[in-house]
Amino acid sequence: MLSFLWDFLFPPHCPGCEAYVEKQGQWCSDCIEKMLQVHRLPVELEMQQLITGGVWALGVYEGKLRDLIRNYKYNGKAHLLQGLHSFIEQGLDQLKLQGDMAVPVPLYKDKLKQRGFNQSERLFRQPFANMKIPMAEALERSRDTKPQYGLQARERQDNLKNAFQLNRSCDVQAVQGKEIILVDDIMTTGATLHFCSEALQKAGAKKITAVVIASGRK
Ligand SMILES: [Zn+2]
Repeated sequence: MLSFLWDFLFPPHCPGCEAYVEKQGQWCSDCIEKMLQVHRLPVELEMQQLITGGVWALGVYEGKLRDLIRNYKYNGKAHLLQGLHSFIEQGLDQLKLQGDMAVPVPLYKDKLKQRGFNQSERLFRQPFANMKIPMAEALERSRDTKPQYGLQARERQDNLKNAFQLNRSCDVQAVQGKEIILVDDIMTTGATLHFCSEALQKAGAKKITAVVIASGRK
């Protein structure tokens, strides 16, 4: 549809507070100032040694940002994606990351079929494309895992151990000796990022940095 007609029918408003703004996906200055909180997450030593570029969150997993991520994940609506894209773009802009390739945390194929899309891939692809950093689904889940919530820390570790590997369709050369930016929508314990990074390291990645949109950890 022509964008002016679309804007007429659905006037653009801030994803945080519904105030009218100039274009779709744009945040008002109050909300972006409040919600965009780029910070390095404190992680265990083992993870620091593995993800040497640091684990970064663009915001805190609470309030409107949490609602937006959750709603997008479960219904995939395009207007939510626009708001998240502009949030991620502004966050990455502050981070000024360097890297050869961005890699989303993979979903297991049954989950992918059920949801229809990998949210991390969709959320980050355009913002990284703007930065001229290609994104590739270089990892896959080699087996299904239980949902992480409700599991104790130890069980979470066992649940995910060896669950990730280099995607069979991915050329090893794409990862070997490269600086990889691993991305996910949220981080809770960090176990998923940890095991994905292990798989990337095993495949010869030179440096790994992780970025999530939001984390409950401050
Ligand atoms: Zn607002």
